Amino acid sequence: MLYAQTMAMGIIAVHGGLDTSREKQYMEILQEAALQGHELLSKNRIQALEAVLRVLEESSKFNCGYGSVLNFDGVVEMDAAIIDGVSNRFAAVAAIQDVEHPISVARALLEKTSNVILAGAGAVKFARKQGFPTANCVSKEQREAWRQARESLARGEKPAQNLYTGLAYYADTVGCVVWDGEGLAAASSTGGYSLKTPGRVGDTPSLGGGIFASKTCAVVCTGIGETFIETLTAKYVDEVIAGGSEPQQAVKSALKRLHKLKKAEGGILAVNARGMVGAAFNAGRFPVVVVADGKLLDHYQPVNLTQELSVH
Ligand code: ASP
Repeated sequence: MLYAQTMAMGIIAVHGGLDTSREKQYMEILQEAALQGHELLSKNRIQALEAVLRVLEESSKFNCGYGSVLNFDGVVEMDAAIIDGVSNRFAAVAAIQDVEHPISVARALLEKTSNVILAGAGAVKFARKQGFPTANCVSKEQREAWRQARESLARGEKPAQNLYTGLAYYADTVGCVVWDGEGLAAASSTGGYSLKTPGRVGDTPSLGGGIFASKTCAVVCTGIGETFIETLTAKYVDEVIAGGSEPQQAVKSALKRLHKLKKAEGGILAVNARGMVGAAFNAGRFPVVVVADGKLLDHYQPVNLTQELSVH
């Protein structure tokens, strides 16, 4: 049986977010994204990451780009980040609106400026200057979910929707880690969580919180961002791997620590400088797709710690 660990030259591992459906249609999009990224991996690992995330941002099925969850005011505000473990360059956009590909704006920031994070109106202005046109990121499904949630709140009831995914069977924040045989890099993109406070920024653009890459590992996280930021969970994974653990051990230990410190749910995906992948989660579902040496690994399963680390 393929256990959540692999070793091969050239790895792309992509996750579809916490509590995301594992139905065929979702897995197929994740697979397509990973394979597209793998095509570019030998050329440029940053380009490969961008390609993976662009596929997912275009799909209305994932909580990023078009299809992002709406904030309390019914507006989509997105976070996206990209980091290269070789150059140690990091760039992110936070609470950005009306762009189709936040990840491409983050990449432009990485490659064309020395800034690290742009937020809100400034991020939008930068995107326009770089030639990214205005785009609608609000899907019909998420608009309707938001309307129903606000109606529930007005009646004094708790909204029925899933905080991460906006809808019952839907996908969440996406993230990707790569190892091209020489270096490691990571990227993430999200709409955050449903009904978040306008202007709120999560862990996706928080270096060391929800994302990290170094010469040791590349790691991305999903879950309620505040808990990852306050525990510096992504950086913790890097430290555990630097201390000699394999990625699978490191992500499990990070999730246990997150649960102990914050009683939180999460999904964590990492790869090390030998191309070994680790993935673990403790909430419902966490679809992960791995492409190693151009081949899709069938039925890759992250370690499920939902029972052991229950938050309910
Ligand atoms: N981490 C994201 C955020 O807090 C949401 C998620 O992964 O579900 O913005």
